[in-house]
Formats: sequence, structure tokens, C-alpha cells
Amino acid sequence: MLANLESPDELVRARALRQLCPCHSWHRYEQHIDLVRRFRKDPSPVVRSVATHIEHEIIEIESIERRVDQIVEEGLPHGDRDFARRRLDIRLLRKPSG
Ligand SMILES: [Zn+2]
Repeated sequence: MLANLESPDELVRARALRQLCPCHSWHRYEQHIDLVRRFRKDPSPVVRSVATHIEHEIIEIESIERRVDQIVEEGLPHGDRDFARRRLDIRLLRKPSG
């Protein structure tokens, strides 16, 4: 699948890049963070728009994570921290794909 990122076809590249979006798989994105950033300079506007979408996802996720960290810092019991993490997971799963 990562080989598709090198495809000369912009739609193939855009589709492969979309698979790296945190709304599909956060772990996969973390693994390829530098790769995703590289596509912000892709010659294709289609591919760049996917890269921009991923950037927005990251900003939103980071703000949610800050809120979760804040809850942790406020010293809630471990169970509540798990609850916050689960909320974060649910939020990611609910996002429309694309
Ligand atoms: Zn996405």
C-alpha cells in the first residue's frame, strides 16, 4: 500500500495518503508522520488537499489529547482516565472517513 504513495497517478497517491489519516488509523499516522508531511508539497492539488485534511485532524486530536491530559493532571482516579481515553477513541471512530 505504501508503494502507492510513489504512484505517478495523483488519485492513487491521494487514496494511499488518505489511509494514513488519523481518522483511519492514528498508529499508522504516527509511524509515517514525516511521510505525510512530505505530501504537503506534492505537485497535485488533490494529494495536497488530503495532506491538509490530515493536518487538521492532527490539530483537533492534539487539542482533545490536551484535554485528556488535563483530566489526568487533575488527578482523577485511573478508571476515569481510561474513560477519557475511550471517549477519545470513540470520537476518532465516529469521524466520517475521508
Ligand atoms: Zn481523515
